[in-house]
Amino acid sequence: MEREVRYIVVTGGVISGLGKGLFISSLGKLLQSKGYKVVPIKIDPYINVDAGTMNPIEHGEVFVLDDGSEVDMDLGNYERFMNLTLTNKSSITTGKIFQRVIEKERRGDYLGKTVQPIPHITGELQHLYKELARESEAEIVLIEIGGTVGDIENQLFLESVRELALENEVFFIHCALVPVMGSVGEQKTKPVQQSVRLLREMGIQPNMLFCRSEKPLEEYITKKIAAFCGVKPDYVISGPDVKNIYDIPLILDRQMTAEKVLAGMKLFPKQKDLRDWKKFVENMNNPKGEINIAIIGKYTQLKDSYASIIESFDHCEGNLGYKVNLKWIESSEMESPNADFNQVFKNINGILVPGGFGSRGIEGKIKCINYARENNIPFLGLCLGMQLAVIEFARNVCGLTYAHTTEIKPESADPVIDIMNEQKDVKNLGGTMRLGKYPAVLKEGSLAKNLYHSSEVYERHRHRYEVNNNYIEILESKGLVFSGKSPNGKLMEFIELSDKLFFVATQAHPELKSRPLSPHPLFIGFAKAAIENSRLLAEKDKSVEKVLILN
Ligand code: GLN
Repeated sequence: MEREVRYIVVTGGVISGLGKGLFISSLGKLLQSKGYKVVPIKIDPYINVDAGTMNPIEHGEVFVLDDGSEVDMDLGNYERFMNLTLTNKSSITTGKIFQRVIEKERRGDYLGKTVQPIPHITGELQHLYKELARESEAEIVLIEIGGTVGDIENQLFLESVRELALENEVFFIHCALVPVMGSVGEQKTKPVQQSVRLLREMGIQPNMLFCRSEKPLEEYITKKIAAFCGVKPDYVISGPDVKNIYDIPLILDRQMTAEKVLAGMKLFPKQKDLRDWKKFVENMNNPKGEINIAIIGKYTQLKDSYASIIESFDHCEGNLGYKVNLKWIESSEMESPNADFNQVFKNINGILVPGGFGSRGIEGKIKCINYARENNIPFLGLCLGMQLAVIEFARNVCGLTYAHTTEIKPESADPVIDIMNEQKDVKNLGGTMRLGKYPAVLKEGSLAKNLYHSSEVYERHRHRYEVNNNYIEILESKGLVFSGKSPNGKLMEFIELSDKLFFVATQAHPELKSRPLSPHPLFIGFAKAAIENSRLLAEKDKSVEKVLILN
């Protein structure tokens, strides 16, 4: 007999950007804490086959999974909250599902039938939900339908889950906004009512409502929403704004959300344990000190472009008990001859240069790396950040004044960063970078190895360029340590400088693998070095004070 799988479908109403992804992530975490094996799926209505070709300014960070798929940033939250390692099966887009059905049609799989949105697209979607349930052996599949109910573009997805519910146990949760109007500050229920009405038009009656609002829902409002939307009052869950996203599971837990969802699916909690999570959130909310980290980026107007980096620092906060203040520095501004580095980096305890593409702001980033190296400020470079650290070192330590990356200067006299061999003939931009999980072997005695406590590590990648091996000898002879390489020794994956407090960079994206309860060792190492830097600065200030007093 086939195992009975439950499905939880989360839809959104009224406006986009309500935090459905965080809701699912938190609910998933709670269901796990009650002893259930869960797996999430995100459905995005756009036609891009995956998120890899989308501009991070418009759509936030492109998240990369172990298997190399480039997916929506919500999958980052899923992995972090539920501590799961997902595959591309957890990500569906309109482009992807149509591509699958069209490929089948071209192969002749439909045997002469007219291929139609219903039942073929909706059927293929259900096939994917069930396949993921089977392969992941999950007991509960969480399906997030992107977009807002009423949009033309997500109708087929809604129809697919309506059909799914005809033969399977499906629990529907609708997330909607409860705005506050005017000076009276009354919470308004009409938008929720309207969006539930739209959902019902699609043949779906929600079992639970997650109502986003600035403040917790008033009791009479809860009752009113319940009455008008046909949901039990205790199944109207309040989702007030929060400062710390990791508080959301605890807010839901206080409203017994997971217990109610389970009961709604005729299941019961098998266990209860949120102790570690509570401790983590407590550490975040009651820091014993603070550090200041500068991030030198080019998408700093949209922090979502760097979501996983921000989360990785949150994980440092929850584990080290220090608040990490992030200072965003637009790299192109550091290129001006008037840029005052001492002023910008005053009180900064660590400098991070993240990944990126294209030429804007490159020289500014290189200058910041130079400042970090010369002033012994802890430095962490990620992907492009490592490439630029190599360029900085080549120019200013090895005397290769024209060192560059061929991504930006194809005719560079000293191309210390060059395109990877296997990338040379690539024409299509979508899904063709070096993507996903690759191993690296760490050097004995290196800081990287000490931090990871392991000599072989797996990190996720997304790049086309790498260190040019013709320059390794000269770089090494001047003290740059290649502390991690691909197992065949050909790709340089980690660099460090051993005479600095912390100067480490990697070709990978470690930020994609940090989790709240297992924070990333490179970020922890970097944050600890920043704490040490801040202690040293305070000592220096004190001794200056002493000298002043003595004088
Ligand atoms: N643009 C660089 C490359 O393709 C770095 C990419 C990145 O930082 N993700 O190699």
